[in-house]
Amino acid sequence: MNALIKEFRDLNLLDDHLGVVVGAGASGIAAARLLAELGAQVRVVDTNTKVDPSVVAAIGFDVDLQLGPHSRVQFDDADIVVLSPGVPVKKMTDVLTGVPARKIVAELELASWFTVAPVLAVTGTNGKTTTTTLISHILEHAGKKVFTGGNIGTPLCQYLLDSEPADVLVLEVSSFQLQNVRLFRPHVGLLLNFSANHLDYHVDMEEYLQAKLNLFAQQDEQDTAILPLWMKQELEERNIGNGTRLYFEPQDLFEAPHLPGAHNRANITAAWLAVREFGVTEAQAAEAIRVFKPLSHRQEPVAEKNGVLFVDDSKATNLDAVIAAVQSFDRPVRLLLGGVFKGGDVATLLPACLGRVVQVGLFGAGRDTFEGPLKTKFDLFWEDNLEKAVGRLAADAKPGDVVLLSPATASFDAYKSYADRGDHFRRIVEDL
Ligand code: ADP
Repeated sequence: MNALIKEFRDLNLLDDHLGVVVGAGASGIAAARLLAELGAQVRVVDTNTKVDPSVVAAIGFDVDLQLGPHSRVQFDDADIVVLSPGVPVKKMTDVLTGVPARKIVAELELASWFTVAPVLAVTGTNGKTTTTTLISHILEHAGKKVFTGGNIGTPLCQYLLDSEPADVLVLEVSSFQLQNVRLFRPHVGLLLNFSANHLDYHVDMEEYLQAKLNLFAQQDEQDTAILPLWMKQELEERNIGNGTRLYFEPQDLFEAPHLPGAHNRANITAAWLAVREFGVTEAQAAEAIRVFKPLSHRQEPVAEKNGVLFVDDSKATNLDAVIAAVQSFDRPVRLLLGGVFKGGDVATLLPACLGRVVQVGLFGAGRDTFEGPLKTKFDLFWEDNLEKAVGRLAADAKPGDVVLLSPATASFDAYKSYADRGDHFRRIVEDL
């Protein structure tokens, strides 16, 4: 366990204090454990009544688990409320009215009070996981001991409790978490990009952008803010802290056979600026980038059949990710779109797709959203499920074409997750 936690616990400052943790997933349980280790009383609340009580029992302290709809009495006596990453605080305003805003923090914020190693934090609408894992890969290649976590993999609270100290903490952070940070101060903060996403949750784009920019609010001159050049004007008008600003744009600096497209060149350039702050040389970065492969379901080639390439980009859950994917191919694209749309203007697809996309196969939910703006421009059909839509596109496809699942949506109409949807796509293609 991290030395700061031990020191803090020995001060007994949290005796008779109550921490209420919202969400009993991995991050919530890790936060509950940290609070308990610090000496607080802990209550974990979750609306999901199917949470297995053994996850709380495993914490090893006397933690009170309350399942079912949230109520004010669960929070009114709280000295601190810790939110799990996926919990929208906006949807809890009724039950949190008795708790001062300063007492409501993200799991990331709680953990950051005890971190010792420098933090490199990545946010943005698209490319967070790809760039975070790329950065960690380069740093490890250069001999650094790296912890990779936050929104992906291990929660930061759990790292503090269980892991060997790392040289650098590479964190993927979401706008949900950044809405409830106060002191969180990454030594290097990276904003990859920003576009319509989660508008089903955030009140408007401004609120969504402000949340992202909280990443930089506490930085000072010794810290670095890495920012997209195309956003320079609007960023300079807002509070982006006092870190040294480095603006990036897509550049052809490195050979990257598994990271196609201009969007990945932007990700790579940003990653290079970030790792450079930790003493990585250009040669070390070049070698690491050349062999790096992104995680599954991100423009992942699945099979080539009769000259037709099938690509799984199921992680493309918004329009900008689709645009990035379509622009990565210099061959005709047959595009699969459909699912639960999260917001944005579908017409923004047109400039990227006209001249590249030869057919659109809609599947499942979202038919009305896509059909209107696209049907006069493209050869387009709708099927009620992915299997039928893939079958039709595959039948029409000619050698040299790409059948691209880049659906622009969340998958919950028909699948447990984007990964489940991508896996289904792969099975369908294998069975063709
Ligand atoms: P995130 O963690 O932000 O969701 P991922 O790396 O998992 O990002 O990628 C999600 C989707 O966004 C994939 O379809 C990927 O191809 C696409 N993508 C990756 N980087 C970018 C970028 N810089 N701009 C637009 N889309 C991107």
